[in-house]
Amino acid sequence: MTALLEARNISKVYTAGSFGKKTSNTALDRMSLLIDEENPSVTVVAGESGSGKTTLAHLLLGVIEPTAGQLLYRGKDMSEMNADEHRVFRREVQAIFQDPFEAYNPFHKVDRVLIKPLRNFGIGGSDRERRQIIAEALEAVGLHPEDTLGRYPHQLSGGQRQRIMVARAMALKPRIIIADEPVSMVDASLRATILESLLRLNKELGISLVYITHDLTTAYQVGDNILVLYRGDVTELGDVDKVIKDPKHPYTHLLVDSIPIANPSHRWGKVGDVLATDDENDIVSDGCKFVGRCVHAMPICSTQRVPTYRTDAHRGVACYLYQESPAMKPEDLPHMMSEVALHNRSNQNGE
Ligand code: ADP
Ligand code: MG
Repeated sequence: MTALLEARNISKVYTAGSFGKKTSNTALDRMSLLIDEENPSVTVVAGESGSGKTTLAHLLLGVIEPTAGQLLYRGKDMSEMNADEHRVFRREVQAIFQDPFEAYNPFHKVDRVLIKPLRNFGIGGSDRERRQIIAEALEAVGLHPEDTLGRYPHQLSGGQRQRIMVARAMALKPRIIIADEPVSMVDASLRATILESLLRLNKELGISLVYITHDLTTAYQVGDNILVLYRGDVTELGDVDKVIKDPKHPYTHLLVDSIPIANPSHRWGKVGDVLATDDENDIVSDGCKFVGRCVHAMPICSTQRVPTYRTDAHRGVACYLYQESPAMKPEDLPHMMSEVALHNRSNQNGE
């Protein structure tokens, strides 16, 4: 296993206010993640609104810096990359965001958003060649170049705009795509098509995906493995099949109970009703952030950071209910996730 992108115990704390009245908000707390170079995977990061998903996406893309911990790309600390290394990183790690409209300049035809990055990264020898690459990428995501090129962003639907973003990422031949809620603003009827084109990038081109979502149904459909975030903490992680079919953490349990997998129209958003209390007082400094709502809460839960227990080969759960299982070291977590992906892939290939 060779780490392509690695997060080692990263945290992000946002501070606001001036002297005396400073408040700080830990958006992400000591999280680790590893994308294996040799074995392309689909890693899902799932959590409700405010759980730290976009913060994680921005950290992985190098848009913001961690308050603590380390981010490495190809073994190099991202804060120490030289210009050449940074350029390689910027081409190899692409982003797809929630709102495809934001990536466009309304005054320019969509052609520009496609061709510019190819020019910047010196892909294709001439514009003619680049247009060919673009046409192929558009077709790969189910768009007809003749209906798409030459148009302005507002002349296309949200679904088309998001598919162009997928095509754009693909044309750059990245190694990793970080997709932050890529289908949450797209019509339900188009979600499946967009997710399928992302998955094809993974299966056919070997691009690893970090798929960030608040929607457990799509998480289940696309992921090899999953990390469930609650207020910046990973509560449960591992094989997506195990975590969603047989959740162990009381929080994951609550989430999964509200989305019968047989009924994809029943979405996770409904859980918001149950969890809508946002009483900051129930957040203890270093214990489990779910303790205030947990029916299994024990005194120990509020006192110290919960270790992640390896309840079975392909899953870890940060909950004292499982303290009989071996506690995992932070550095073990990403390796377990890579093993899950590898295991799932070899099963698929064997079918
Ligand atoms: P998600 O994408 O899961 O909704 P975010 O990463 O956007 O979560 O936010 C996680 C937490 O960090 C939230 O409490 C949010 O209010 C806070 N946060 C996010 N971005 C900033 C910022 N730039 N400054 C201060 N707080 C922020
Ligand atoms: Mg977000």
